[in-house]
Amino acid sequence: SSNSLASAVPDSSKSTGDESEVNITAAELSLMRKAMRKGIIESKNKLEILRQDPNNPLYSVKDFESLNLRKELLQSIYNMGFKLPSKIQETALPTLLADPPTNMIAQSQSGTGKTAAFSLAMLSRIDPSRKCCQALCLSPTFELALQTYEQVKHIGKLCTDITIRVAVKGETAPRGERINEHIVIGTPGKVLYWVTKYKCLDLRQCKVFVLDEADVMIATQGHQDTSVRIHKQLPSTCQMMLFSATYDDEVVAFAEAIIPNPVTIRLRRDEETLENIRQMYVECHGSDEKYEAIANIYTIPVGSSMFFCQTKYAANLLASQLRADGHQVALLTGDLTPDERLRVLNCYRRGEERALICTNVLARGIDVETVSLVVNYDLPVLHGTNRADCDTYLHRIGRTGRFGKTGNAINIVDGQEDLKLIREIESHFGIKIPKLDYNNMDEIE
Ligand code: ADP
Repeated sequence: SSNSLASAVPDSSKSTGDESEVNITAAELSLMRKAMRKGIIESKNKLEILRQDPNNPLYSVKDFESLNLRKELLQSIYNMGFKLPSKIQETALPTLLADPPTNMIAQSQSGTGKTAAFSLAMLSRIDPSRKCCQALCLSPTFELALQTYEQVKHIGKLCTDITIRVAVKGETAPRGERINEHIVIGTPGKVLYWVTKYKCLDLRQCKVFVLDEADVMIATQGHQDTSVRIHKQLPSTCQMMLFSATYDDEVVAFAEAIIPNPVTIRLRRDEETLENIRQMYVECHGSDEKYEAIANIYTIPVGSSMFFCQTKYAANLLASQLRADGHQVALLTGDLTPDERLRVLNCYRRGEERALICTNVLARGIDVETVSLVVNYDLPVLHGTNRADCDTYLHRIGRTGRFGKTGNAINIVDGQEDLKLIREIESHFGIKIPKLDYNNMDEIE
C-alpha cells in the first residue's frame, strides 16, 4: 500500500545533495527548451541596444509590413500565425535587413523569436538568380541544426526560387559536385568537412553568416575552433550575426574575436520577480503525512504541475507511490537518456501528462508555459548543509508564472527543520510565505 511505501522514504532523502544533477549539457537543455515551447514567449525584460555608431541610430518596427520583406516572406509569416514581431525581432530586424549590412551580436531568451529573426534575414539577402551558397548558419548539434533547417524551410516555403540544404551527419555530397543551395544550415564539423576536405561547399559568395546558440556553441568542446576555421573561409564583406541566450564573458570574448564592429543587443538582467507567483506551505509530520499532502494536492484541478524532489531516489519513490495509488504521473530525472527526457517533456508539453515529478535537473531554464503549480516535495537545501538553497528555490518556482502569468508554489514542510528552511527563504527574499488553508484550495487555479 501507499503507506508502507511512504514510510520507506528515508529522512536523509531531503538533506543530501549527492544526487543533485548537473550533468545535463547546454545543448540538451537548449533542445529540451525548444521541445517544451508552443509558440513565442513574450519577454517582459528590456532589451538594451549598445550602439557602435551613434550616427546610425537604430530604429525598431512595430509591425512586419514596415520591414519591406519580400511579399512571399510576409505572407508566409502571416500564414504561420505571426501577427506582430517579438521584441528581439522588432529590435534586430531593421538593422539586420538594412544596407549596408551591419554585424550583430544579439541576446534574447530561448523562445523569443531569434530563429525566426535570422531566418528572415538570411532569406531576405538571397539573390535567387545566383546558384551558390549565400547564407550559412551553424548550429551546435544535429537536432538543433535540423530544427533550424525546418524553421527556415517553413518561413521560406513560398519563396520557391530559394533552395535550402542541411549539413549534418548522414547527409552526403557527391564528390566533384558543388553544393549550390542558397542557404546551408549545419553543424560546424560537417560544414568544415564540406568546405575544406570535400571541397564541395564554396563560401566565397556567402553574404550572411549566422552563429546560432553561440552560448551552447562555445560550451561545446571543439565547436569554437571549428567555427573560427569556417569563419576564416568567409569573405570580409559577409554579414555576421551571433545569437545567444546567455551572455557570459566567454561568449563576449568569442564574439569580439570573430564579429567586427557589431551592433549589440542584450538583455537587461532585471531582477527576477516573484510577485506573480503565489507561494504557500503545507505543514505535515512524517513521511506518511507528507505523502497524504501530495495526494491531496494532486487532486487540485490545475493545468499542469511539477513536483520537485531533492534526489533521484526520492523522485522515483514518489512516482511509484502515486502510480501505485492509480495516479498518472510522468517522471524525469538524470537517469533518463536525452532521448527519453525529450519524450517525457514532449508528452508533458502536449498535456498528455498533467503532473511531472522531477529533480533539480529541471529547476533551471525550462520554459513550460502551461505550468500553473510547482510543488516542492523536498525543499531545496545547499549541498552538505541544512541551509536553504534560495537560488534553486527561485529557479524551481520560476518554472511557473513565466512571463507575467500567475503561478502557484506549494512547499511541503515536514517538521521543524523544514519550517526553519521556509523562514530562511522568507527572510532571504523579504517575503511572507503563508500556510495553505485547505479550505481555500480552490483559490489555486
Ligand atoms: P528562439 O530562436 O529565440 O528560441 P524561435 O524563433 O524558434 O525562438 O520562436 C519560438 C516560437 O515562436 C516558434 O514556434 C516560432 O515559430 C514562433 N514565433 C517566432 N516569432 C513569432 C512571432 N513574431 N509571432 C508569433 N510566433 C512567433
